[in-house]
Amino acid sequence: MILQKYSMGIGDRFAHQGRAQLEAIIKAKQCGVDVAPVWNKSHREHTIIGTKPASVRTEADRAVRDGCWDGAYHVDADHINLSNVDMFIESSDFFTLDVADSIGKATGPDDLNGFVKRCSDLTGTIDIDGIDRKLEITRDDIRRIGSKFLLAVKEAGRIYRHIESRKGVDNFITEVSVDESEQAQSPVELLLILAAVAQEGIPAQTIAPKFTGRFNKGVDYVGDVGQFAREFNEDIGVIRFAVDRFGLPDNLKLSVHSGSDKFSIYAPIRRALKEFDAGMHLKTAGTTWLEELIGLAMAGDDGLQIAKDIYARAMKQCDELCKPYATVIDIDRDRLPSPGEVADWDGQTFAAALRHDQSCECYNLHFRQMLHLSYKIAAKMGRRFTGALKDHSDTIATCVTGNLFERHIKPVFVD
Ligand SMILES: [Zn+2]
Repeated sequence: MILQKYSMGIGDRFAHQGRAQLEAIIKAKQCGVDVAPVWNKSHREHTIIGTKPASVRTEADRAVRDGCWDGAYHVDADHINLSNVDMFIESSDFFTLDVADSIGKATGPDDLNGFVKRCSDLTGTIDIDGIDRKLEITRDDIRRIGSKFLLAVKEAGRIYRHIESRKGVDNFITEVSVDESEQAQSPVELLLILAAVAQEGIPAQTIAPKFTGRFNKGVDYVGDVGQFAREFNEDIGVIRFAVDRFGLPDNLKLSVHSGSDKFSIYAPIRRALKEFDAGMHLKTAGTTWLEELIGLAMAGDDGLQIAKDIYARAMKQCDELCKPYATVIDIDRDRLPSPGEVADWDGQTFAAALRHDQSCECYNLHFRQMLHLSYKIAAKMGRRFTGALKDHSDTIATCVTGNLFERHIKPVFVD
């Protein structure tokens, strides 16, 4: 199973917007750009909402059938590990092996020595197409980087072989993700991670490194855009080199786990994809559920009331909701409007505070982050929430499709 050049990981927490999301992909196709939609939902999201992995497959298949989509599409078991992969085996055909937890853990001396030996031909100066400076690699670098990442890649190998034993070779797409680690990986680190991936026999089609800067949930990138652009370009060069040198799959490409909505890095990404004729997997739009809230707010009446109630309850459980996401949010509680204040808002005001339009002075990124974490509360509302999604499905669908196409697909893949 081969992942096409451009693909997009899209989240849909409540599984009501698959068709509206697909509509954005169809619009891209009408502009002459093929993007494979990949519906993803992590074990963490399933746990918080109380859903099962099979529900994502059901939604994807239904969206594709209803939208008469004959292009590729996939279902991603996002950020899985050996302890939870089994429940995703049947319904997924894309597996994101998350081994960030094993980064920095010691590997056995024999394994490490073997790795250093097998990589010895990489020592010295390496000239990589697309990278202005030359990469210098010493034996010590290989040992140091090996001791940091080798155990993690070996863990990825174990997960990969487990999935392969259940699904069969070539019946699924493999991504290796090290994005949820503390430090960004340098090009040399990425190169050696890929060497280890090849040595483990993992036919990775995407690799998700951690980039420089902050990728907070649902809001724009915070960091040095120029530095990001350099890293992104260099990583593309490293991947090409690794494909040739280590025999990894030809279509191996970067996967950007964006945490959604990193608009300010879209332009440099677009430039790099064009310049190097490179592919990319972009995980974004986990914020689809915020488009649901925007749609509900704009629908007014009961829809607006639900949106306000979710915010009011979220403010009461602020600590609990923030905890699982502590490393990927920056909420200044002093900048959050009080529930009393929000209670007086009309639908347009609520939508304008939440909508990710940084040119609008009503936009409040603290409010947006807080609501983004509050899907657990919507899940607890049960039918009151999902019933409203159905009642206001047209308004919501317009928001979902418009957001995905105009703010994400167009700047990254089309313009
Ligand atoms: Zn990730």
